[in-house]
Amino acid sequence: MGIDVGAVRAETPAVAEVVHLNNAGSSLSPVPVVDAVVGHVRLEARIGGYEAAERAEAAVEGFYTGVARMVGARPEEIAFVESATRAWELAFGSVAFEAGDRVLTTTSEYPSNALGMVKAARERGVRVQVVGDDASGVMDLEALERELDRGGVRVVAVNHMPTHNGLVNPAERIGALCRRAGALFLLDACQSVGQWDLDVERLGCDVLAATGRKYLRGPRGTGFLYVRSGADLGEPPVVDVSSAHWEGQGYRVREDARRFESFERSVAGQIGLGVAAGYAVDVGLAAIQERVGSLAGYARERLSQVDGVRVLDRGARRSGIVTFAVEGASAERVHAFLGRAGVNVSVARVWNQVWERDVGVDEAVRASVHYFNTEEEVETLVRLVKER
Ligand SMILES: *Cc1c(COP(=O)(O)O)cnc(C)c1O
Repeated sequence: MGIDVGAVRAETPAVAEVVHLNNAGSSLSPVPVVDAVVGHVRLEARIGGYEAAERAEAAVEGFYTGVARMVGARPEEIAFVESATRAWELAFGSVAFEAGDRVLTTTSEYPSNALGMVKAARERGVRVQVVGDDASGVMDLEALERELDRGGVRVVAVNHMPTHNGLVNPAERIGALCRRAGALFLLDACQSVGQWDLDVERLGCDVLAATGRKYLRGPRGTGFLYVRSGADLGEPPVVDVSSAHWEGQGYRVREDARRFESFERSVAGQIGLGVAAGYAVDVGLAAIQERVGSLAGYARERLSQVDGVRVLDRGARRSGIVTFAVEGASAERVHAFLGRAGVNVSVARVWNQVWERDVGVDEAVRASVHYFNTEEEVETLVRLVKER
């Protein structure tokens, strides 16, 4: 079933002002999300923050059920966390590593995750190893299998879709290999949540980290963590009065995923993220995946016809992230030029790809489409890139 583009654009009033092709950076929230967030902030101002949270209990619970439904999890496997990086770090930081344990990752891994791995190598003696790419440019599954067979792999940490390139890593097949080898699979689904129809069982991941503001169209400062019940994780690196109970001289940590939450949070943000998840499910994630894929394919095709433009996306399957270089113009300049003309894109820089071989460019223009974008908007982008 298709998407009623007119209806979703009507619920995204900013499309009258800007051509927003920075959905991988931070998308535009639809009206119901904005209303939920602003409504709760106003309620807090009127009756008090704790009182407002009590009154909004059902909406807060709706976050857990809504997000769980979206990714095929159970509500008790979901935690609210303020960003994907924090969510990922909390899960990774709770793995009970022993010195010498191996961690496998991919060349396209997000730099914040890479920093966390290098920090664990320094402080906890784990050995981090980057598995190479296959001919298409995604994680090489045969190489991964060989490394898993060598033994000692505690964690495989991979992004589903990187931030700086339109490639898609074969998450389901990585998940299957990890299960067979008994390694924990940490999936960074920051760009795929809200863009693709995800299911944690099908993906085979033990942990999934995501952010609110990107394809999910939620508020900034929000994200979530999925932790499979029974996943082999130790205690969270941080505990507080909501994640643990004080008992005599010691404490007991909650068993569900909320052990990764902190007591203090933006309740408005949490409610807004729950509404955003429900909104995505209502629009239809399969239809979203299909429309984003076809718009991005269209953009790649049209851009590659422009003289001096090189589309840089790799991989056999592609995401809604379209990256390209323009001969004779820095990505920064193209970004500024487009911005002045009312087209939002962003710049992917070399530090987004810390473990990648030299790909021949230091930066790329990143145009990331969403289901509320149109072919006409893509044409506007292409026309401006020609004029640059
Ligand atoms: C944006 C992004 C992150 C980090 O998300 P934050 O919410 O900013 O912490 C991690 N991984 C990928 C692939 C991303 O695109």
